[in-house]
Amino acid sequence: MPPDAAARRHARTILGRLKKRYPSISTALDYASPWQLLVVTVMSAQTTDENVNRVAPELFRRWPEPEDLAAADPEEVETAIFSTGFYRQKTKSIIALSEDLMERYDGEVPRNLEELVTLRGVGRKTASVVLAEAWGLPAIAVDTHVKRVAFRLSLTDQELPDKVEADLRDLYPEREWSGISMRYIQFGRELCDARKPRCWECPMVDRCRYPDKTPAPNAPPGNSRHLDV
Ligand code: SF4
Repeated sequence: MPPDAAARRHARTILGRLKKRYPSISTALDYASPWQLLVVTVMSAQTTDENVNRVAPELFRRWPEPEDLAAADPEEVETAIFSTGFYRQKTKSIIALSEDLMERYDGEVPRNLEELVTLRGVGRKTASVVLAEAWGLPAIAVDTHVKRVAFRLSLTDQELPDKVEADLRDLYPEREWSGISMRYIQFGRELCDARKPRCWECPMVDRCRYPDKTPAPNAPPGNSRHLDV
């Protein structure tokens, strides 16, 4: 069932507050082309953007274009990206996606979700990051932060990323999609942590259904009434 007017208003209020907090925002990953963004996004799984940014310059110095990485020796690539963790699987993925790009798209990164997700190693989340960030096209990438924040703020009751994405697509007009994920992610990192959210300084506290809101560290016991919403 499509969301009603009140649900859309609520979603708009949330995004409005996020825009106020983060007037402009983009990925913290460093990249110089859509293909590089594809590669660093794959490498960012289970590690920090800072870790990826540390190894990416050397990776792209040695293998500057998709055709170079497609022909790379996997062991050398593994060594180059070792510190990002899960380096064997990541090496397989970034070489495979570069091979697919060369074989099927002449090295050009497609501009639509359907084609992007046919590249080996590229899932819906990675594809959406590239569409929104590299091409400025409407797409919502759902990672663990987006999922958690959307759930706590009653924008979805879903668990599966694809379904969370569908709920967010229903709540927001298409022109807003590309500006959603990074703001939710940054908010999740800064304030709405999975285990220790900083509820006492959160601008969404009146909109949040999370039951265990965290009082300010120095608040006297029983002085968290303002958080009981
Ligand atoms: S009040 Fe706490 S749990 Fe709710 S959105 Fe804010 S930081 Fe997250």
